[in-house]
Amino acid sequence: MGGTTSCRPINFRTRQARPSAPRMKFFETLLQTFGGKPIDWDELEASLIRADLGVPVASRILEKLKEQEAWSLTGINDVIKVARREIEQILPVKAESIDPLPGKPNTVLVVGVNGTGKTTSTAKLTKHVQKRGHTVMLAAADTFRAAAIEQLEIWGERTGMEVIRQKPGADPSAVLFDALQAARARKTDYVIVDTAGRLQTKTNLMAELEKMRRTASRVVPGSPHEVLLVLDATTGQNGLEQARRFTETSGVTGIVLAKLDGTAKGGVVIAIARELNLPIRYVGIGEKVDDLLPFDPEKFIESLFEK
Ligand code: GDP
Repeated sequence: MGGTTSCRPINFRTRQARPSAPRMKFFETLLQTFGGKPIDWDELEASLIRADLGVPVASRILEKLKEQEAWSLTGINDVIKVARREIEQILPVKAESIDPLPGKPNTVLVVGVNGTGKTTSTAKLTKHVQKRGHTVMLAAADTFRAAAIEQLEIWGERTGMEVIRQKPGADPSAVLFDALQAARARKTDYVIVDTAGRLQTKTNLMAELEKMRRTASRVVPGSPHEVLLVLDATTGQNGLEQARRFTETSGVTGIVLAKLDGTAKGGVVIAIARELNLPIRYVGIGEKVDDLLPFDPEKFIESLFEK
């Protein structure tokens, strides 16, 4: 039986107030599929996996059900209760947005594969930090793509933030160095750095990011303060492989999950938390500069189980 995860993508634009968490209603779909019928365990496992919870999380939920002699459970409502308890244990309890750490300027490297929403997320983060009363400078360190530099400059104009750039092909660490020097001189609170994202299999990209980390710590001891990895929620489990590569080599401190508005498969949030053990800091819910929300695990879980 197919189509159990064909719940509609969330249309945030039609909602009156901006939601504080994406509404996945994934478990509502499960109820609709299995409600009032004997549970088909194979199909239930397949549904959990299709919702991007991933094999390890789906298996763990099923194991728990077995442990609790759940084979005698009467219906999907009992299953949902067990799933919720498991998910609550996997996701961190508290929301963690980026707060200023000691040392000025705070340096935030934004990393990830091209196309995931890295440059847009860099602009959104800038606006977010700016709204919280901090000054920000942008560094266009994706020097590999001329278009990325131009795009960041457009965002800089829109948000009124200065963009430090050099010519396409310049050394990204040199751009970062310039930005940090300028920010120090002007006592700017944050430097947010858009980095290159050629395919993660290219080891020279990882070496480049490593060099940037060294440059940052030389100019501002203790930096980079944050390394945020942008993942595209619509790529589901594939994103996890990218994430592993970046976390191994780039010292990632948190995730920005972009394009959550484009998928109803919220399970990827849980898979990321379980497999990478990294906090999801923000979720992207659209293409505009304000379409970024601090991730709130409690509200997210609520929305998953809403009926
Ligand atoms: P980069 O190559 O990783 O820097 O990706 P970009 O920032 O250029 O974004 C790639 C595409 O994804 C653009 O068309 C963006 O408008 C779009 N995008 C980025 N974030 C979001 C999001 O949260 N929701 C949606 N719907 N689109 C997004």
